[in-house]
Amino acid sequence: MADVIIKECREYDAEIIKAQINAGMELLGGWGRFVAPGMKVLLKVNLIGPKKADSAAVTHAEFVRALVQILKNLGCEVWIGDSSGGAIAGIAPTAQSFKVSGLARVAEEEGAVIKNFDREGAVEVKAESGLVEGMYLAGPMFDADFVINVPKLKTHSATLYTGAVKNLFGCIPGLKKAGYHRLAPDPKDLGTVLYDIHRAVKAGLHIMDGIVAMQGEGPTAGQAYPAGKILISTDPLALDTVAAAMLGMDIAEIPMLQTVKERGLGTADLDKIRLAGDFVQPPVLRGFKLPKRYRRSGNWNPAIVVKFIDFMRARPYIDSKLCKNCNMCVESCPVQAIEQQTKRIDYKACIECMCCHELCLHKAVTLRWDNRLAAFFMKLYNKAIAAGAAKSK
Ligand code: SF4
Ligand code: SF4
Repeated sequence: MADVIIKECREYDAEIIKAQINAGMELLGGWGRFVAPGMKVLLKVNLIGPKKADSAAVTHAEFVRALVQILKNLGCEVWIGDSSGGAIAGIAPTAQSFKVSGLARVAEEEGAVIKNFDREGAVEVKAESGLVEGMYLAGPMFDADFVINVPKLKTHSATLYTGAVKNLFGCIPGLKKAGYHRLAPDPKDLGTVLYDIHRAVKAGLHIMDGIVAMQGEGPTAGQAYPAGKILISTDPLALDTVAAAMLGMDIAEIPMLQTVKERGLGTADLDKIRLAGDFVQPPVLRGFKLPKRYRRSGNWNPAIVVKFIDFMRARPYIDSKLCKNCNMCVESCPVQAIEQQTKRIDYKACIECMCCHELCLHKAVTLRWDNRLAAFFMKLYNKAIAAGAAKSK
C-alpha cells in the first residue's frame, strides 16, 4: 500500500502552508522519519522558466518559503535547486528564472542556498533501463543528504500531465535536456528517461504545490485554477495517480506514466493507495480544463483510435504578431526544426515535443489542428466546458 496525504490549503500564506504540511507529515510518521539536524536538504522545485510565482507555471515562492522555514527550524541546511528548460542566447535561463519567480528573494530572506543546476557540475550515472549508456544529472542531487521533490500540479500540452514524476526531468542540466527529448521523442520513451532519473537520484519525499494548479495548455501557456490542495507522498507515481484522478484524468491515458508504471517505479492502482489527510477519495476538481491532446480511448478499437488521433492532431504554430524574436524556441528545438529568420516550422523534421510551445514566454506558439472540422469541434467542446465551469461556481 502506498500512502498519499491530501491537505486542503486555499492561499499562499507561509504560516497556513506550514501548518498543513506539518499536519500531513505527522500522518506519514513525522519529519523525524526523513531528516535530522545538520542534514543538507535539497528542495527540487519546478522552475520551468522565468515565470512569476502567480503564473501557476512554477512552484510558488511562498510554498518554498514554508518548506525552508520548516526545515531550518528542524536544524537542516536548505538548498533550492533546478534547471530551467529552453535557452536564451545559447544558455538555459535558470538564473533569470530564480529571480523572476521570487525564489532568489525567498532564499536570501530565509537563509537558503540557491543551487543553479546549470552551474553546479554534473554526475554521470548509469541508466538502469539501458536506453542510454550513462546520464549526466545535476551534482547537488547527489551532494545533498536528502532530496525533497516539490512539483507543481499542471497539465502539459505534450505529455498531458506534469507532476512529481516529470519534475525530475529538471535534474538534467541546461541544454542537455534537448538531447534527451531528441532521444525520447515519444512520451512513452520519455517515461523511460524519467524512470532512469528517479532510480538514480532517489528523492525521498514528494510534496506537491497544488494550491493553484495550471489547467488547459500547460505547463506554461495554460490558465491558473484554484485547486486548493497540497499532496504528500514517498511514492511519486502514487502521488501522480491521485493528482491525475483529481483532474479527471486516468493515468492509463498518460503514456509517460504508463511507462514508469510498467517499469515498477511505484504504485499506480488507486485501490492500492491509502489516502489520508482531509480526503479519503481523490477530490475531483470540477470544470478543470484538460489539454487539447487528452482524450479517453476507453475500449475503442485501436484502429479507430489511431484515425481519431490523426483527425484531432494539433501542431505548434508561431504567431508572428506575438513573436518577440527572442529565439528561445529556435535554440531549444531539439531537432532544429524552426527557421531562425522566418520562425517557420519544418513539420517534416518536427517531432512534436512541444518544447517551443512550452517555453515561449510570450505565448506566441499556439497549437493548431490540421483538420478544420476538428478545430470546430474543439471550439464547441471548450465552450461547453467553460459554460459547465461557470455553472458549477
Ligand atoms: S515564438 Fe516565442 S520563443 Fe520563439 S522567438 Fe518568438 S517569442 Fe521567442
Ligand atoms: S518545432 Fe517541433 S520539434 Fe521543435 S520544439 Fe517545436 S514541437 Fe518540438
